[in-house]
Amino acid sequence: MPEGNSADIRAVLETVMDPEIPVVSVVDLGIVREVTPESVRITPTYSGCPATEVIERSIREALDAAGFCAVKIETALAPAWTTDWITDQGKAALNAYGISAPDLAKAATCPQCGSTDTEEVSRFGSTPCKAQWRCKSCLEPFDRFKCH
Ligand SMILES: [Zn+2]
Repeated sequence: MPEGNSADIRAVLETVMDPEIPVVSVVDLGIVREVTPESVRITPTYSGCPATEVIERSIREALDAAGFCAVKIETALAPAWTTDWITDQGKAALNAYGISAPDLAKAATCPQCGSTDTEEVSRFGSTPCKAQWRCKSCLEPFDRFKCH
């Protein structure tokens, strides 16, 4: 087993994509909070989100495949995950993918035209963690992460 160091472990985590948004890694989503040679601490995006178990399993498989079998995964529920933890790179990838990464203080921004003249259509988007929104400027529907 290779001697683990946090940079190598982080590099492995950067290859683990979110199961619902395959363009953003768990690192860019801000799910990975801390990496040490012994453990990885993650905070799920939404408590009760079915993707959480999938994410943890994906991280486990990636670590094992890279030889970091001894690295533990710890789940920290507090402080709660916020969209502020999404990196700039992650936000850019989300926008490119057509998902608005919300600024909690503002209305949802349309990923198509950038308009903030938007409305929530349904609390239930394509997955339980997203709500469906529609842009009133270009009338395009889009998914938005639900905020707490
Ligand atoms: Zn629009």
